[in-house]
Amino acid sequence: MTLSERVKTLQPSPTLALAAKAKALAAEGRDLVAFTAGEPDFDTPAEIVEAAVQALREGKTRYTPSGGIPELRRAVAAMINRDRGLSWSEKNVHIASGAKQALYHLFQALLDPGDEVIVPTPYWVSYPEQIHLAGGVPVFVPTRPEDGYKLTPEALERAIGPRTKAFVLNSPSNPTGAMYTEEELFGLFSVLVHRPVWIIADEIYERLVYDGPHTSIIAVDPQAVERTVIVSGVSKTYAMTGWRIGWAAAADERLIRALDDLASQSTSNPTTFAQYGALAAVTMDPAPVAAMVEAFRRRRDLIVERIAGVPGLRAFRPSGAFYLWVDVREAMERQGFPDADRWAAALLEEAGVVVVPGSGFGDAGHVRLSFALGEAAIEEGVRRLAAFVGRRR
Ligand code: PLP
Repeated sequence: MTLSERVKTLQPSPTLALAAKAKALAAEGRDLVAFTAGEPDFDTPAEIVEAAVQALREGKTRYTPSGGIPELRRAVAAMINRDRGLSWSEKNVHIASGAKQALYHLFQALLDPGDEVIVPTPYWVSYPEQIHLAGGVPVFVPTRPEDGYKLTPEALERAIGPRTKAFVLNSPSNPTGAMYTEEELFGLFSVLVHRPVWIIADEIYERLVYDGPHTSIIAVDPQAVERTVIVSGVSKTYAMTGWRIGWAAAADERLIRALDDLASQSTSNPTTFAQYGALAAVTMDPAPVAAMVEAFRRRRDLIVERIAGVPGLRAFRPSGAFYLWVDVREAMERQGFPDADRWAAALLEEAGVVVVPGSGFGDAGHVRLSFALGEAAIEEGVRRLAAFVGRRR
């Protein structure tokens, strides 16, 4: 009795595993500062909760169309049209159980065995595994701090080969918080314009931006519209990670039907009353979101400033999302650790501070700190970090 090769080689999500470990240790009474959260620490705004409760009371408890309720599909299309100057309809939107599920469906729908997907490093942990599960091959292209962790057109050009099927662009990025400008996006698109390559634009952090508005690659050239798939969702913007609602949206209605068909044979549909909550989220007054973004901006400024004061750590200033990508190589070497995994394990054991080692994101010399936690916790965590970094083995 054996399991499939597919699951034998599967790497479970390191971020989810670490967050679970931090919660378990805290439940045992360990005094921890956990910089691990991949989710806002705010509550879902009340009117969203009310809309879902109302849906339950009205008996909206049955199956929906596999790609989501038409009202939500239309509302997401309207939001995309408003922000990106398009004229899409419900036929251009597939609602899934989170952006993660939308991406999973997408790789299943786009890739044949051996097809390559260009993934800039550092990357969000799930891309390589989802690409593998679809039989594809991730082609990793490193980005450099001196380029602001952004892929250059030259590096993209070099990575493209005859089997290239898709390119994943995550802006703002998890884990670096790097956000591409319109000019940079145009540069990347210029490399792709005459090639049959899908652009998967993961824009889940599109509203959590601190240094000016987000630009989508789909908006930089009319020719980008046909080949770009926008992936996003309500998890991060509206503090709704547990609701599990996200989407993929594209001009190609054939692709959207394929995603709906995949869902019809896997999930049936995203949870019905959660879809009504998401509908309230994408149509509500944006004030609660603006307040949350403001709080994240203050935390971003605080954590950047505090980490800058710790010798041996070098942090990249993020323009979006809620993560700080920290180069720990100098501290690690000085303290006598061979890699960031062991450095982070000792930090947890000795100082009660939880950070995510960079190896899961494709870079073993860095760690990721989430700043989705209160300012007092950030101050205390960085104090402990500084004390730990001062110690040698
Ligand atoms: N894409 C990126 C870059 C993420 O960081 C996440 C969540 O951490 C997701 C997609 C998935 O979000 P969800 O499935 O909660 O919509």
